[in-house]
Amino acid sequence: MKRNEVNRSELSPMMLQYMEVKDRYQEELLFFRLGDFYELFFEDAEVTSRVLELTLTGKNAGLKERIPMCGIPHHAVKNYIEKLINQGYKVAICEQLEDPKSTKGMVKRDVVEVITKGTLVDLEFLNERDFNYIGSVIDYTYCYLLTYIDISTGEVNACFLNHNQDSLLNEVLNLNLKEIIVKNDFSIELINILKNKYNFHISISDELLEDEYSSVYEEVNDERIVQGIKHILYYLHVTELKDLSHLSHVTLLKRDHYLEMDVHTIRNLELVETLRLKERKYSLIWFLDKTKTAMGARNLKTWLMNPLKDKSEINKRYDYIEALNNHFLEREELRNSFYEIYDIERLCGKVICGSLNARDVLQIKNSLRVLPNVKRILNELDFEFKLETHDELYELLNRAIYEEPPISVKEGYLIKEGYSSELDELKAIRSGGKEFISSIENEEREKTGIPTLKVGFNKVFGYYIEVTKGQIDKIDPSFGWERRQTLSNAERFITPELKEKEALVLNAEERIIDLEYKLFTEIRSILRQHVFALKETAKIVSEIDCLCSLSYASEEYHLIRPMITDEKEIRILDGSHPVVQEVSGNAYIKNDIIMPKDTNILLITGPNMSGKSTYMRQLAITVIMAQMGSFVPASECTLPIFDHIFTRIGASDDLVSGESTFMVEMLEAKNALVGATENSLILFDELGRGTATYDGMSLAQAILEYISEHIKCKTLFSTHYHELTDLDHKYKDIKNVHVEAVEENGNVTFLHKVTDGPVDKSYGIHVARLAGLPNDLLSRAEKILEIYEKEDKKQIKQHAEQMTLNLEEEPKNDELKEKLKEIDPLNMTPIDAINVLYQLKELSKKEN
Ligand code: ADP
Repeated sequence: MKRNEVNRSELSPMMLQYMEVKDRYQEELLFFRLGDFYELFFEDAEVTSRVLELTLTGKNAGLKERIPMCGIPHHAVKNYIEKLINQGYKVAICEQLEDPKSTKGMVKRDVVEVITKGTLVDLEFLNERDFNYIGSVIDYTYCYLLTYIDISTGEVNACFLNHNQDSLLNEVLNLNLKEIIVKNDFSIELINILKNKYNFHISISDELLEDEYSSVYEEVNDERIVQGIKHILYYLHVTELKDLSHLSHVTLLKRDHYLEMDVHTIRNLELVETLRLKERKYSLIWFLDKTKTAMGARNLKTWLMNPLKDKSEINKRYDYIEALNNHFLEREELRNSFYEIYDIERLCGKVICGSLNARDVLQIKNSLRVLPNVKRILNELDFEFKLETHDELYELLNRAIYEEPPISVKEGYLIKEGYSSELDELKAIRSGGKEFISSIENEEREKTGIPTLKVGFNKVFGYYIEVTKGQIDKIDPSFGWERRQTLSNAERFITPELKEKEALVLNAEERIIDLEYKLFTEIRSILRQHVFALKETAKIVSEIDCLCSLSYASEEYHLIRPMITDEKEIRILDGSHPVVQEVSGNAYIKNDIIMPKDTNILLITGPNMSGKSTYMRQLAITVIMAQMGSFVPASECTLPIFDHIFTRIGASDDLVSGESTFMVEMLEAKNALVGATENSLILFDELGRGTATYDGMSLAQAILEYISEHIKCKTLFSTHYHELTDLDHKYKDIKNVHVEAVEENGNVTFLHKVTDGPVDKSYGIHVARLAGLPNDLLSRAEKILEIYEKEDKKQIKQHAEQMTLNLEEEPKNDELKEKLKEIDPLNMTPIDAINVLYQLKELSKKEN
């Protein structure tokens, strides 16, 4: 039965209440709290039972037919919600707003929270080393404004993006936004791309949140940004009912402040995950990340994704690393301290909008405990960070919170003795009462002469005396005992004295639990007041943790401090691709990359599998490491500052786009050729191989010429086309290098060593032999190759002639120009003009 088929007048009052709430939360799966369960009905029940593999049952709702229902016990709800939101569903939690015990009639219920992938705050659900962003995009006709928030930490950012699809996609993919909110007038085409091709969760809302949480944007003058923030705040606060008091002031990010890399580059270089398995293991961040705190790990990812362009900022990070290397004992002491620091940023998020429990508070306390030591070391190192140690807060938490509290905050055992005298008194009564009850057991045993007599407790009868059937005769009516329960082999009694003490004990127990909860919520409010100061501390800790991590990595991997030069010069001696080296160990061959001021392009030839793309990646990764402030793998390294890295390397991961590999290759080439400045770095790996040989070769050559003549930026270009290696004669900024291979008795060994000059052979068939293709097939391939090589020589000759022909024809272009220059339109008769026009037309025909 469907929800909209129901005749509401026949429904039970409780189901009517459900329908009213559900009317307001149609998009969400409504978890409706009934006692110890959350129940879902109708279509929500069908979806949930299918996704979570739960039984779909029925419920009597007052109708003739039972309605579909699915129930989840409230204590296990977290894991179920996690599964649902990971599959892209939204969950609305509808709670009982009154205590059923003290309410007559139906309990009030309403939604208290909407949970989506982008607004998680529970630490268990989140990847501690990554951000969890939700973003709003506003289309301002000439640009997009992207505002994004990590609710778990309270971080708010905004940035303007160029008004084109690529810029927007790059940014939202790089940030890995979990949810995007757009306005109604946003391009449907783009919404469909984001939704269908990239699986983003898109919500549409036009509303803005006025007045509330204005501190987030109070320092912003640009009304467009204010609108963007109000847009996302409305969604979070009104639609998803989040408390946002912990949000920081917005940070306005300027893309051009950082080295730019598009999403393909970040993926191809495997900066944060590997291309094939999409795993962190074997990515650059995996290699570099030696941080000890979750905040540090997230910050390091930000540094890696946003390498700097300011020389002094970069050098400042190097200076810190150098200082930490020189004081490695202090550094290790810092790292040991950081090991004790929990995710304060996200705990702060939980203070405001999550269900912070006593264990979380204990984590905050334990984190604060090490801060004085951290501060002392920073002072010793003369580091200028202003770290607050929160001594008073620490004292308070240390005095208050019990060391092994339960998860629930409603069971007591949260508050230490000595914190509240009222609580201590109640506890004395409780323990006194308990002792009294055990003394009753002894007294009654003596009085009755029944050694097996026991005092027990159950929820129905409270405290009772239990006597086994065999001993029943010994009970005298003068004892004044009242029989309460008969079991198969025992009888249970109560006495007035027992009941009197019981009232005291039980009352104390209940009051203790209430008071502990009250004291705990007071501590929670005190923490709320400290949230911003704690977040500031978390930020400083994360930065120092990153610096320590870079310092530790530099030592562990023998990295060196690069020299940043203002000249356009690259000089890397004994460099390596750090991850490939880490994995291949001693087998790794180090390589130099030398590109003086007057060399812009390295044309890299060499057999397949010899290490061309690794060599190119080596440069890009060294540049990224250097500009993020890290030391680099080399024995000597001089680099200029790059503004943008463009890559076309390896297989395309854009398989779902419906565009051919060659088209994607050309699109990426276009992005580079249009976007690069003379300070950019371009890496083109075998560009043009996706089409017919001469087609591809011509394109490759034209692209090289274009870079040499127009862009003049540092470029690594690997190719199979030997013919291109002649270009170094014509273009002085092109230099040939090749990856060496040696052939012995028909076997080829790749030396992975890059040396000057072009390669003489491509060894494709040898690689095929390594791969184990059948021998017959390989001999046939060798014969075919022989034929082609003869053919090829002829064609190359023709090609060369053609080229020279073209070159010779070039002056004709000038003839046309010269003729045009001669013309003086002001002193021409109409007839002259017609004649000259005719001559020009003839000239242009000759050129084609
Ligand atoms: P190509 O681009 O020439 O086809 P790759 O760069 O993909 O070759 O490298 C092929 C293989 O050689 C990779 O598996 C890589 O691990 C290994 N390799 C590359 N460079 C080196 C090196 N300098 N030292 C050792 N092994 C290397």
